[in-house]
Amino acid sequence: MKTILEIQKLDRQIKALLREVDKCPASLDFKKYKQILKDGKSRFEQLEAQANEIIKNYNASVNKYNKLKGNSEIVRKRNTKDIDLDSVSNLINDANSLVGELSEENRHVEDLVRKSEEIVRKSAELSNKLTEAKRHSGAIKAKIEEKRQEVAPKIAELEKKIKELEPQIVEQDKYAKYKEMKAKGIFPVYVYLEDEFCGGCKVELPLNFIEKLKTKKMLPCEHCGRIIMLNK
Ligand SMILES: [Zn+2]
Repeated sequence: MKTILEIQKLDRQIKALLREVDKCPASLDFKKYKQILKDGKSRFEQLEAQANEIIKNYNASVNKYNKLKGNSEIVRKRNTKDIDLDSVSNLINDANSLVGELSEENRHVEDLVRKSEEIVRKSAELSNKLTEAKRHSGAIKAKIEEKRQEVAPKIAELEKKIKELEPQIVEQDKYAKYKEMKAKGIFPVYVYLEDEFCGGCKVELPLNFIEKLKTKKMLPCEHCGRIIMLNK
């Protein structure tokens, strides 16, 4: 067991070095820029959907406009030579409402053009922002790699020590359990009982568990699954 605990100590040092890389300012910056790129992508998708909507409305407006123009031709070509007064006033009404509809549709089209210009502008802004973020994340990645290279020989040294210790392990089954739990992200695996608490998750353990531990010397925590040992 002594050798396994020795290995656990070395693994703890490896984890601390990896955490150093993960928590270095460049890594935190990298996470920030990754978020910017992710947000940017969804914003682009939003703008694209808005643009498609505008194109749809624009086409509908143009169709309506053309149809109204066609109507105005019909009104214009009516034979006005021998029509009565009622018909003339109808003609005037038709013409007036056409003018109203045409100018409204014209305003509608102008509004759509203005909106699409706005989208083009926003897309360009976003594109610049994303290019900038991408450029930064490239430089940051290099910094993280530098940090990784810095800790790599230390980690290699610790891993070498572990390899040297492994053949000395008497309880191979306990080491297999250690590796299995470590792979699942549970670390440290072997912890001590601290008063009535699990040395790993700090949960208070029931009295009967502690009684059982006194005879078995080693038991998995009911809460976190770590192996609790008696006596330091
Ligand atoms: Zn626990």
